[in-house]
Amino acid sequence: MIPLKSEKDLEMMRKSGKILARTMRKLQESIKPGVSTLEIDSLAEDLISKENATPAFKGYKGFPASVCTSINEEIVHGIPSDRKLLEGDMISLDLGVNYQGYYSDAAITLGIGKMKPGAKKMIEAAKKALALGIKEARVNNYLSDISYAIQNYVEKQGFSVVRQFVGHGIGRQLHEEPEIPNFGRPHQGPVLKNGMVLAIEPMVNMGTWETEILDNGWTAVTKDRLVSAHFEHTVAITEKGPEILTN
Ligand code: MG
Repeated sequence: MIPLKSEKDLEMMRKSGKILARTMRKLQESIKPGVSTLEIDSLAEDLISKENATPAFKGYKGFPASVCTSINEEIVHGIPSDRKLLEGDMISLDLGVNYQGYYSDAAITLGIGKMKPGAKKMIEAAKKALALGIKEARVNNYLSDISYAIQNYVEKQGFSVVRQFVGHGIGRQLHEEPEIPNFGRPHQGPVLKNGMVLAIEPMVNMGTWETEILDNGWTAVTKDRLVSAHFEHTVAITEKGPEILTN
């Protein structure tokens, strides 16, 4: 069963989402050549604890950090390290916040300095794909209308969508039902209802959609080692339409 949120739950999730959004904006400002991903991680941890919240990923299934930092061919679950960002790199920041037991989850991908035109186009396509997916997050639509909107747009732009990792419901737990693939035929799966909250998260690859996991057991990379981008928002389905909680 997909949990439906009460108005009180939603109020708390909005607060969680706002904390995440404020943190993400500050992390974004910190991104520049020469910054290490560990520095980004400690900034995230600091900012979230000042908001009286906790980083949702730290310790989750043993994940060692507060933010996932995935560079270039890394898709998701990159582990912060002393690696410094370089001009022309791209980095995905994926962040989860737990505020009084209510979760929010969001990701962005940023280019550092001057990017190759193809890489820039791919990042923009992933961002747009998320916006198109969110547009479908409406009462009485089917879950896979979101999936289809994302895949259809991304493939028309000449990129691929990752199959191995998917979006998810979110609320009192970081990952709740349903799973939300970024691919599939429209009009399938459960009908969307008022009070569902979904973490929609397209992962878009320059080349093949196939993935591998690095030896650290966490970091997913593209099989062909071409670059990848990731965007995510936590979105409530309401009678008035989709409400992005992590803006
Ligand atoms: Mg997520």
